[in-house]
Amino acid sequence: MQQTKIVLIICDGMADRPDREHNNKTPLEVASKPNMDKIARDGICGIMNPIGYGIPPGSNTAHLALLGYNPYEYYTGRGPFEALGAGLNLGKDDIAFRCNFATAEKKNNKIFITDRRAGRGEFGMKELGKLLNFRTDDADVVFKASSGHRGVLVLRGKNLSEKISDSDPHSEGEIKEVRPLDDSDAAKRTAQILNKFTERCYEILNRSEIQSERINKGMLPANIILARGAGKTGEIPKFNEKYGLNGACIAGVTLVKGVGRSVGLNIIDVSSATGHADSNIEGKIDACIKELKENRHDFILINIKGTDEISHDGDFEGKVEMIERIDKVLGKLLLSVSENNLNTTIALTADHTTSVTVKEHSGDTVPIAILGDVRTDEICKFSERECAKGGLGVIKGTDLLNILMDLSRRGKKFGA
Ligand code: ZN
Ligand code: ZN
Repeated sequence: MQQTKIVLIICDGMADRPDREHNNKTPLEVASKPNMDKIARDGICGIMNPIGYGIPPGSNTAHLALLGYNPYEYYTGRGPFEALGAGLNLGKDDIAFRCNFATAEKKNNKIFITDRRAGRGEFGMKELGKLLNFRTDDADVVFKASSGHRGVLVLRGKNLSEKISDSDPHSEGEIKEVRPLDDSDAAKRTAQILNKFTERCYEILNRSEIQSERINKGMLPANIILARGAGKTGEIPKFNEKYGLNGACIAGVTLVKGVGRSVGLNIIDVSSATGHADSNIEGKIDACIKELKENRHDFILINIKGTDEISHDGDFEGKVEMIERIDKVLGKLLLSVSENNLNTTIALTADHTTSVTVKEHSGDTVPIAILGDVRTDEICKFSERECAKGGLGVIKGTDLLNILMDLSRRGKKFGA
């Protein structure tokens, strides 16, 4: 039999807990979602521990796990994954940070942060970011503004260490002096380099014309960069070497694109795929259909972020609506796969639970349904509690790719 292609649809934070104010139901149990239910009915269902029992996953660690990589081994901090997601290339000795543009004031030679996100006003940040690329005696500095008030910083040079503290004070107030976190010379040096960078940022950004334009528009100056989450990229085996699959990643958020790039998935950019609730999710599905029809990739990961963002806001009705919107575009995918005979195994799941009552990620299991050449079960509804009774039972995040490999006829026999 012919091998099938694999589409893995990850609706970020879609799983939830029952809400007492909504008849003890979860958003998935309330939403009208005929296409998700079709995947459950015609497929095999189960629940999954993205990382481990009771471990609330981050999106990046969960996506690593769902791609078959043990996050405890391969996750090296948020900085490097953000930098990769923003499209920067990382050498193995580079130190990467995630950053915010912020608003600062100097008093008595000390820098005080008055707004940690520079009022979130994005105007001019791309251009301002470009000014922060320069060479010093100690290291090359590479900076790129990413989405909103965020950006990424990479220090490139000899004898650098990621064992340093953040310059971000994580609240308004005096900026933190960066300190080495171990006794190595490299850590001391890197801390100094970052402190100097902060001083220099303040000078460069305040002098810029664009800054004056921001101020003329009544916006807060974006005149300092706060850095945190220092890390190096690790040695991660490439996805195509590990599985022999030519893989692609369709995602709006830098965080997930970074995971995709770290394992060598091709990033397919979709316009207006922002990762917010109003993201162009139809565009993502269209891009996936195009990939399948044009036969370019054997494996496509689609991340839809809006469900997570809404959950953090605690908006139950909004989450139900978002699930219904996702369901509509899934209908398009299912139709196209059957009409065009696109021999495909489709898995639908979430990367973690983000409960609208807790407003945070939690360590609950997530539902999963797989459509393809599977042993179907009795489950007809895609929800946390229905899927728990399904034929897949309880799986671990890092088992998922093996299961999909096997179902798509790529399983490698162990033993004779
Ligand atoms: Zn997530
Ligand atoms: Zn989240």
